[in-house]
Amino acid sequence: MIYSLAGFTEPANCTSLVAPFTSEPNRNMAAGFNEEKRAGKGPQSSYIINPHLDSMKEDILYHFNLGTATHDLPAMFGDVKHGMGIPSIGIMLHELIKLLHHARCTDVTIIRIGTSGGIGLNPGTVVITKQSVDATFLPQFEQIILGKKVLRSTDLDEKLSEELLQCSKKLNEFDTVIGNTMCTLDFYEGQARLDGAFCSYTEEEKQNYLEEAYTAGVRNIEMESSVFAAMCKLSGLRGAVVCVTLLDRRKGDQMTSSHDTLNDYQMRPQKLVRHYIKKQLNVV
Ligand code: URA
Repeated sequence: MIYSLAGFTEPANCTSLVAPFTSEPNRNMAAGFNEEKRAGKGPQSSYIINPHLDSMKEDILYHFNLGTATHDLPAMFGDVKHGMGIPSIGIMLHELIKLLHHARCTDVTIIRIGTSGGIGLNPGTVVITKQSVDATFLPQFEQIILGKKVLRSTDLDEKLSEELLQCSKKLNEFDTVIGNTMCTLDFYEGQARLDGAFCSYTEEEKQNYLEEAYTAGVRNIEMESSVFAAMCKLSGLRGAVVCVTLLDRRKGDQMTSSHDTLNDYQMRPQKLVRHYIKKQLNVV
């Protein structure tokens, strides 16, 4: 089974989280089901391109054991929001890992997909993470437990990363590299941006820091990979991180590409992972 976890740092309408995740306990709504929602009233998502779905009396999502007639999906999942950064993905992973346990899933692979800032790469390049490193370039995730610092390894499955790279080569639609990913606690000062509300360093200092990161093998920067990698390692789940770079941080801090270009970039990790899943299922 492969779950892909969409990037948490992009706007909520750009990606989907392909894993059951709700802030409320699941409620089977068969008895008191809300007719309005069942009739499809309220805002509709635009993720589906399939005219047949509207005419179906019920849609059974067999693998999730959910159905539109038996479960109030807007109530259960309508409040799903993409959080940002380590705390959000950490909380979600605790519950996803427990869900996999309760569901007795075996041989599970999970892949984080998302966006990032690149270093020394053309925007739109996809980076498969070799090691997730912290802001001092060490491959570790610091968790505070009972007031004490606990350092956890952020090594990822090298074989899986290599398989994904080969898959991207076959797909041949965009550049893909394997490199280290720096995971930070902040988008602005934490990523050496000059355009935050606060900035106490010069452009030269920023460039020197990015250069140090590049020398340490860092090719992109994002905000979720370290806890993802640490929790995969702790749980024994096979995990990979696949993020597209939206800009080259050596050249700037703001996303200046057009909306369409950014959307195209954001689809790339999904395209690669979709191709990989199909390959695993022998349908390509
Ligand atoms: N996400 C980040 O964390 N940083 C970027 O520069 C782009 C996306």
